[in-house]
This record gives sequence, C-alpha cells and structure tokens, in this order.
Amino acid sequence: MGIDAEKTGFDYDVAVIGCGPAGATFARLVSPHRRVIVFEKQNGGGKPADLEFGKCCGGLLAPDAQKQLALQGLTLPRDILVDPQIFAVRTMDIAGSGQAKLPERYYQRSYINLSRLRFDNWLRSLCPTERILKCAYVKSVSRLSESRGFAVEYVKNNQRNTVTAGLLVGADGGQSLVRRLFFPNNGIDRYAAVQEWYGASDLSPFYGAVFDAELTDCYGWLISKDRYLVAGGAFPLDGAAQRFSAFKEKLKGRGIPLENPVKREGCLVCRPKSISSVCDGKDGVFLIGEAAGFISPSSLEGISWALESGALLAGVLSGEPQGANRRYHSAVRGIRLRLAGKMLKSPFLYTPFIRHIILKSGVASLSIDL
Ligand SMILES: Cc1cc2nc3c(=O)[nH]c(=O)nc-3n(C[C@H](O)[C@H](O)[C@H](O)COP(=O)(O)OP(=O)(O)OC[C@H]3O[C@@H](n4cnc5c(N)ncnc54)[C@H](O)[C@@H]3O)c2cc1C
Repeated sequence: MGIDAEKTGFDYDVAVIGCGPAGATFARLVSPHRRVIVFEKQNGGGKPADLEFGKCCGGLLAPDAQKQLALQGLTLPRDILVDPQIFAVRTMDIAGSGQAKLPERYYQRSYINLSRLRFDNWLRSLCPTERILKCAYVKSVSRLSESRGFAVEYVKNNQRNTVTAGLLVGADGGQSLVRRLFFPNNGIDRYAAVQEWYGASDLSPFYGAVFDAELTDCYGWLISKDRYLVAGGAFPLDGAAQRFSAFKEKLKGRGIPLENPVKREGCLVCRPKSISSVCDGKDGVFLIGEAAGFISPSSLEGISWALESGALLAGVLSGEPQGANRRYHSAVRGIRLRLAGKMLKSPFLYTPFIRHIILKSGVASLSIDL
C-alpha cells in the first residue's frame, strides 16, 4: 500500500479532503512522521459569526461528543459557547392544522450550545498549520494506475493544481466527493437540511425539536444562539424548499416570529437507515465522520463520531501501512454497533402513532411550570 512519500515518490503520504471535526482531529493526532495535506474549501474565520457561513448545523455538543473531547484531552474555550445553555428540549408535533393539538413536552438533555463555526475554527487551530490548505476546493481525485497512489486536483486562488499522495482520506462530510467517486454503489439516504437565522433579542430562550410527518419523516429544530433564533429542519429532497416554507408557516401560526432572516444555510445530511449504508473505505481510501455515514439517524448528531473516527484513523495510519484498511474497519466496529442501536431506536421516535402516544402520556417528560 502506498505510504511514506519519500520512498514512494508521492508528494504526500496522506491526502485528506475536508477539515471539519473529523479531518481536523485526524490532522491533529496522526503521527508527525506522516506527511499529510488537508484540503479545506472554507476560509474559516475573519467575520462575525452571524455574517459568516459555516457548516449548516444545530451546534449542540451532545454528551458523547463531550466524552470524546475529554478522551482526547481537550477542554472547550469559553468563546466557542453561545447563550443560552438550555437543559430541556421542548418537543412539539405540529402535523395537521384543524385537529386537536398534541401536548408539548419537555425532556431533559445535557447538550452544550456552541457556535459551530467557532468550534470548527478552534479544532483547525489545534492542527499543525503546515498540514492545512485553506480555501482549497478539491475538484477531483483519481487513482494512479501504476502505483496505487492518488492524484488530487484542487483549485486555490483560481489556480488549478495537482498533488499526489499514497493514501486518501474522505473527511468531506455528507456530500462526500470521495465517497461518490470511489464507492458509488454504497448508497446512503440523504436529506436537504436548511436553517435560517432570525434576530430574536426579545424572545425567551428556546430549544425545540419539531415533528411534522406531513412535511418530513425526519425533524426540525428551533435553537436560540446569542441574539438569534435558528429555525431549521431536514426534509426529503423532493420539494424540500416548499416543505421548509410550509414548516415555517406552521411555526408562525404557533406564535413563533420568523420574519426577515439574516442568513440561510443549507447542505445535504446523511441519514443511514441500514448498517450496509455505512462505508469506512477500501484499497487505500478511508472514510471518516459523516462521509462514512457515522451520524445518528434519530437525532442527526454526528460530531462525536467525527471526532472518534478521526482519532481512530489517526492511530491506524500512524502505524504500519500494511493492512490499514482492515485495522481501521475493526477499530470502528464500536461506532457501527452504536449506530445500529440508534437505527433500532429511530422508529420509536419517528412513527407518528408511537410518538403521539409518548407525547400524550408524558412518559419521561419533565413537569415544568412556566
Ligand atoms: C442541519 C444539521 C444539524 C446538525 N446538528 C448537529 C448537532 O447539533 N450536533 C451534532 O453533533 N451533530 C450535528 N449534525 C451533524 C454534524 O454536523 C456532522 O455529523 C459533522 O459535521 C460531521 O463532521 P465531518 O468532519 O465528518 O464533516 P463536516 O463537518 O461536514 O466537514 C466536512 C468539511 O469538508 C469540507 N469539504 C467538503 N468538500 C470539500 C471539497 N471538495 N474540497 C475541500 N473541502 C471540502 C467542508 O468545507 C467541511 O469543512 C448536524 C448536521 C446537520 C446537517
């Protein structure tokens, strides 16, 4: 397998596409003896968070992600946090207009509310700077037939360039180019995620999970972030824009002020529904984070597995190159098992009939006097 650039003649041992939580973790932790280049299309930083576009994300750090940071010896800088920190999620089912409303319920959650943009920039800042090429958009990757390495073609400053590497890591998220090029038959369900930011200085702090089976078999969210309210959802690709508009209208009907958004973000999000849609790579190509399908189909929480898979691959590629794909496949077995558990749980949350029973009964909910 192609590794050790000096011996093989490749420009780098490992080329990584994408520097989100998965790519940045890999770049931070892989052995300094590996010659690594990470391509990241975003600039990352410079503008105030409300004007800059980052990853379309709820920006909630779940307990599993907090545990990963602890295991990796990291503590969160305060300036990554946003106000407020909320410990109960308000759960609403807004399907139907005329019928009797289902009760809203509050469930305890222990998320950390953060600025996703500042979180990503912070993780990048922990990597050796020479490893990351920012504003570098990878256009294509091909396998070099004679040597088993890879040629990566990218654009930076309007210039096309190509580098070669012995191994390839796809850390390029839900729309992964690497996955589409090298594993085109390993399909995974994708949804259109879209969210808008609204000025909301006078609104009480809000953290809501919103269900509406007429518009999506996934879910929507409302999250206060500093002086904004972020309203979004994940919708089937067919008619996603109209579904989002209808979703907002229904929320407005419930008194939530969603007028004049200051920005809109969107992306495709993976939603693995069977374990066969998870793909960790093969033949010198490795997938980490969401590109592999490591994201919860029930909550869309994926930062924890991005951090974990990035660290696991860094351990594997710091060692002997022989059998690296096999060793990485075994290393992520625990993630696959936990993902399978979430897949079993998902129908309980997303079958309207079962959800209605849960909401009506109030089982496991908090009694909050507001
Ligand atoms: C709407 C939404 C809400 C979510 N909310 C949460 C949440 O609250 N908590 C949580 O834990 N998870 C959440 N997730 C999931 C979480 O965002 C992902 O699981 C996580 O970002 C995966 O990290 P990653 O590093 O694998 O990919 P990403 O974070 O997507 O990073 C991929 C990186 O690759 C770069 N890139 C992509 N293609 C190229 C290219 N061709 N050339 C160069 N660079 C490229 C991108 O710019 C990006 O920086 C949410 C997802 C969505 C869509």
